[in-house]
Amino acid sequence: MVSRVIPVEPFDLIVFGGTGDLARRKILPALFRRYCAGQMGGSSRVIGAARSDLDEAGYRAFVSDAIAEFDPDATQNRDHLSAFLERVSYVILDARGDAGWDKLAALVQKDRVRAYYFSVGPGLFGDLAQRLHTYGMSDADSRIVVEKPFGRDLASARDLNRVLAQHFEERQIYRIDHYLGKETVQNLMAVRFGNMLFEPLWNSQYVDHIQITVAESVGVGGRGEYYDRAGAMRDMMQNHLMQLLCLIAMEPPAKFDPDAVRDEKLKVIRALDPVEPDCVVRGQYQADDGAPGYRDEVEAPDSTTESFVAIRAHISNWRWAGTPFYLRTGKRLKARASEIAVVFKDAPHSIFGVQAGRHRNILTIRLQPNEGIELGVTIKEPGPGGMRLIDVPLDMTFAEALGPDSADFPDAYERLIMDVIRGNQTLFMRGDEVEEAWSWTDPIIEGWEERGEAPIPYASGSAGPDDALMLMHRDGRRWREIRA
Ligand code: NAP
Repeated sequence: MVSRVIPVEPFDLIVFGGTGDLARRKILPALFRRYCAGQMGGSSRVIGAARSDLDEAGYRAFVSDAIAEFDPDATQNRDHLSAFLERVSYVILDARGDAGWDKLAALVQKDRVRAYYFSVGPGLFGDLAQRLHTYGMSDADSRIVVEKPFGRDLASARDLNRVLAQHFEERQIYRIDHYLGKETVQNLMAVRFGNMLFEPLWNSQYVDHIQITVAESVGVGGRGEYYDRAGAMRDMMQNHLMQLLCLIAMEPPAKFDPDAVRDEKLKVIRALDPVEPDCVVRGQYQADDGAPGYRDEVEAPDSTTESFVAIRAHISNWRWAGTPFYLRTGKRLKARASEIAVVFKDAPHSIFGVQAGRHRNILTIRLQPNEGIELGVTIKEPGPGGMRLIDVPLDMTFAEALGPDSADFPDAYERLIMDVIRGNQTLFMRGDEVEEAWSWTDPIIEGWEERGEAPIPYASGSAGPDDALMLMHRDGRRWREIRA
């Protein structure tokens, strides 16, 4: 099965911060893969913009190196690569000054979709929006893409929304959360709303609890300076985990349309109860044999920033009252593994007796690695010897169920950039959603600050602090194993 490529109109994509880390690792390789897939048709172009003193040839070499480093397989097709590079140009430009802006304005074409990717720190968003307007580049066919973090609290997110709204309408603003671009996340909606099987059971009457885990095995690495100002709560929980929570918990939208979906997600965030201090655990990883501890890595010996956070959340609405949602995310954990597990309640009565053991249906949505969906069902263990029950997975791993080519779907950045060009905002966060998410996380962070609470140390390569295990144990439940 080969994935279908839907053509898009010719476009100009302007990457502010075109010499930065995100451009190198994600945006430029993603554009090249879309080019190879035939989706950068006609005369579509990529224009990098930053202060670095590069000429066109120098920037093309930068792009070529980035693709070779982060997508080595793709560069095997030299013809494709050189044809792609011919569409790449570069403008030296300062977001805070006027140098370079006339040149950019002359270069972009007004008769086509223009997407301005703000791949720079949020401190420059206002300057970029203002100058795009001043130099006549913010008309109705233009759109802007902004990266996380969208603010560091409710007040700063409101400021950012206000600044962007001065020059762009909400329908032109694409706040990216790359988790929403993952194939499985969209499949979660297909599974929920495309099948009769699940939706009737998707409520507190049948679901015991839901676990969402986003675990990383690496530490903060080169992002120490940024990370130490953010922490796991701002960097991961407020955006990625909350977005996953919304998709799992939302009511069926009337249609698969950007505002219908985002309205339902917003209602979920609004229905979240405030989190009591004993329902949150924060941790910080310690030095391991070979690897430095968090404080060494960020070079801040007294840092009280958390590299791990776990929360028990409750949604006060008819569907979910009484069903806890356990969320956890952290760095330097056992494995790189992200999943959502919907754990159904026990059957009301076991006709097989206690010796048959306790068996539960669990629907697992794996985001990484090996994206796929798996439903655990109970069957009889084959063979003689009476009725012994075992749990087996009904595996919907795409590569196995749909053939090897099905694993070849676009990565999140490819899909999301093409959605921007098509003008489809379904998988992007709306301004009010982001603000509401901060309204929920701000009091938790303020509580830590007021109480002077330090994160609990945890061993590198573990599942986080023991207190996080207790968060579930005291409810008579257990976290699922963090497994790659
Ligand atoms: P970065 O490596 O520091 O790159 C910043 C870019 O901005 C560089 O291209 C820099 O180029 C340019 N720049 C800085 N000041 C400028 C100015 N006054 N005028 C014009 N250009 C300027 O940062 P990054 O890691 O790519 O991150 C970019 C954005 O994406 C940030 O908002 C970050 O939070 C977000 N993000 C990054 C990642 C990631 O994995 N890297 C992941 C998620 C979100 P010059 O120095 O040449 O001007």
